[in-house]
Amino acid sequence: MNSIWKRSTPRPVQPTAGARFISGKARKPRLAQRGLPLVGGEELPSFSDLRWASTAALRQKDISRNVVFPCILLSLFSKLETFRLPQRIIQQGATALKLIAQVKLQPTPEQVAALRQTLEAANAACNVLSEWVWQEQTFGQWALHKERYNTLRAEFNLPAQVAVRAISKVADAYKLDKRTQRQFRPHGSIAYDDRILTWRTEKQFVTIATLKGRLKIAYVCGERQKQLLVHQQGETDLVYRNGEFYLLAVCNVVEPEPQDIDDALGIDMGIVNIATDSDGNRYSGKVVNALRKRHRTLRAKLQARQTPSARRLLKRRRLKEQRFASDVNHQISKKIVSLAQRTNRAVTVEDLTGIRTRTRVKKPQRATHHSWAFFQLRSFVEYKAKCKGIPVFAVDPRYTSQRCSECGHTERANRPNQHTFCCQSCGFSAIADCNAAYNLRDMGRAELSTCRTQRAA
Ligand SMILES: [Zn+2]
Repeated sequence: MNSIWKRSTPRPVQPTAGARFISGKARKPRLAQRGLPLVGGEELPSFSDLRWASTAALRQKDISRNVVFPCILLSLFSKLETFRLPQRIIQQGATALKLIAQVKLQPTPEQVAALRQTLEAANAACNVLSEWVWQEQTFGQWALHKERYNTLRAEFNLPAQVAVRAISKVADAYKLDKRTQRQFRPHGSIAYDDRILTWRTEKQFVTIATLKGRLKIAYVCGERQKQLLVHQQGETDLVYRNGEFYLLAVCNVVEPEPQDIDDALGIDMGIVNIATDSDGNRYSGKVVNALRKRHRTLRAKLQARQTPSARRLLKRRRLKEQRFASDVNHQISKKIVSLAQRTNRAVTVEDLTGIRTRTRVKKPQRATHHSWAFFQLRSFVEYKAKCKGIPVFAVDPRYTSQRCSECGHTERANRPNQHTFCCQSCGFSAIADCNAAYNLRDMGRAELSTCRTQRAA
C-alpha cells in the first residue's frame, strides 16, 4: 500500500465536499479556516497538478475516475499535514525517506554471461522501441505496451516483466524530452521489480530473472547497506560498471520523530571552503580543489592526445575524482549533521535552485563552481539530517554574502574581496564565508520562530 495513504489523517474527507476545492478561489479561505498555513505554489502541489498527475498514473492501472478523485483529496490532505511545519522545510517525499542501497553481485562466469546478455537484449529492445516511438510519434506508455509488447517479447525473447520495464524505460525517456530520438547504451542499467527480483537478505543472495531463466546470485555489501535493505521496497536497478554488476535498491526508511530544536545552524557553501558553519568551523575544500586542478591539467593533456589508451585513462581519472569528492562530501555532511544533532539545532542551507544563473564567479573558479559536488553536499546534508529527525531549512541565498550579519546593512562594497567581509555602515568585519553563515543562521532562526507562532496559533 502506498505510504502516502497510510499517513492520511483520520480527519473525515467527503469526496463530495472536495468539489469545492477545485477552484483556487474556494480553496484558500477554506484552508485558512482550518488553521493550516497557506503556502506558496512551489512547495505544495496545486490540486489541479495533483489531479492531473495522479489521474494519469491511476488511469494506466485502469482505476476508474470515481476512485481516483477521493484518493487525490486524501493525498492532498496528507500532504497538507506535513506542511504544518515551516514552509520551506525540504520535503523529500511525504512520509518515508527514500535511500539507495548499493550491493555488488558475485556472479559465476556463466551468470555474468547471462546477466550481460539480458542487459544487452533489454537495451537493444529499448532502442528498437525508441525508433518505433520516434517514427510513430506515439509516446504514451500504455499505447506502447498495447502495440509493441508481444512483438518485443517474441523478437528479443525477454521475460514478461523485463519487457514491461523496457517499455516504461523508453516511455520515461521520452517524458523528459520529445524533441530527439532516444538512444540507449548497450549496457545501460535496467530496472527490476519484486516480481523479477527477490531479495534474500538473511542469506545474502538474490534471485533474478534473465534470458537464461531465474538465477540465484550471491552479493556482498557493508553493514549500513544490510540495515537499509531491511526496508527494501519496489524498484531495483541492475547496473553494469567496469566489468562488475551492482544492484541499486530503493529502500523506504521510516523517518524518525523530529528532534526538539532550540536554535538554527547556518551552513554556507563556498569554493575555497566547501562549507562554513555559523560556529565558525570551516570545512576546507583544499584537498579536493587541488586534486581537481591536477586532474584538469592532466585531462587537457590527455584530451589532446586522442588515443584509445588516453581515453581509457581519462575515464578512470574522472571516476576517481568523483569518488574522492563524494567521500569528502560524506565526511563533511556527517560532521555538520552530528554537530546539529548534538546541539539541538536545525540546519539552514542556501536554496541552490538556479545558482548557476544567479551567482557570478571569476573565470578560474567556474569549473569548480559548476560542478555537481555542491549539489551533492547539500543533498547529503539533507538526507543525513532527515535520518536523524533534524529539520533542514532551505532559504533564499540572495545577498547573504553582501549583508552585514551585525547590522543588516547590505551593499556590494561590503565585500572588498572574495575572502573578507567589511561592513561599510557599522565596521563589522569577518571572514566572508563566516558572515554568510551567520546570515543563514539568522534566517533559520526566523523560520523557527514563524514555525513556533504557527504551531501556537
Ligand atoms: Zn554592519
